Amino acid sequence: MKRICIIYTGGTIGMERSENGYKPGKEPFANIMARISDFSSSELPKYDVIEFSPLLDSSDVTVSEWNKIGSTIYEHMDEYDGFVVLHGTDTMAYTASALSFILQNLSKPVILTGSQIPLGEIRSDAKDNLIASMMIAASGKVFEVCLYFAGKLIRGNRAIKMSADSFIAFDSPNYPHLAEAGIDIKYRDSVLMKKSDKPCVLKELNEEPVGVLKIFPGIQIELFEQIITEKLRGVVLETFGAGNVPNYCSALTNIIQKAYENGTIVVVCSQCPTGTVSLGTYAASSCLKRAGAVSGKNMTTEAAESLWKLIFAASLMSNGE
Ligand code: ASP
Repeated sequence: MKRICIIYTGGTIGMERSENGYKPGKEPFANIMARISDFSSSELPKYDVIEFSPLLDSSDVTVSEWNKIGSTIYEHMDEYDGFVVLHGTDTMAYTASALSFILQNLSKPVILTGSQIPLGEIRSDAKDNLIASMMIAASGKVFEVCLYFAGKLIRGNRAIKMSADSFIAFDSPNYPHLAEAGIDIKYRDSVLMKKSDKPCVLKELNEEPVGVLKIFPGIQIELFEQIITEKLRGVVLETFGAGNVPNYCSALTNIIQKAYENGTIVVVCSQCPTGTVSLGTYAASSCLKRAGAVSGKNMTTEAAESLWKLIFAASLMSNGE
């Protein structure tokens, strides 16, 4: 009999209405699940629920919660066949990215999910998301950190939140889905990670000072000069298209060069959800390359931002994964 661990961190899935809008509910999540007969189906794996305190709207999740989720999974790794992390949708893609770097050499699945409507409410998408995630966590087919939502299993560090109100809230525009859940759950073995034969390693992240700067037409880059100081360990630059910035931006290249000399790593991501950064394809990006910026290739900003918190960021980035 398979056994999985459900880690409940907060998010809409367990929220209740208040006069200030939705907030984490007081009732233990395991009690809400116990009222829904589907969760005692023999077709589901046995499960335990670990409930975090305090429960959070995911807007409040920080590096410390990423580490707490990672270390909880690591500590219980031998007791379970897989893990489901219940999390708010707003920053789930960031947490999924971070966990994929925190938990290395996985031989068991870690599936993040949540919902747009709380589990106890009418028309909730929570039951379907949770049941499919539990089945995937017990399937023995997945050995990585993933995000499951509305029929799609997505690589954690490729996920982005696409919609604030649709049930189809996530996608991975730059990487194929790992599985699709229709009548059956169809896994795509060719794109799934292979089971690691090395022991799992926990690499907790540090709260490094990192910034994200989105380039826009007419940006007055001088205004940002005060922010990009030697105190910043990394900057994710969200550029146009294949890594382009305005040509008048000599101020930008000066800042990047200064950052480079200070040891601040500047990674270039694209504002486009698909495609790849290719520094030097246009003159409008060659200046970034000359100034010492690194191509983030096809990484999401969410992944690049958490990747900076790893000491070996540069070597991981060089293979674009
Ligand atoms: N604000 C909520 C959260 O991220 C949204 C959700 O869970 O859908 O915690």
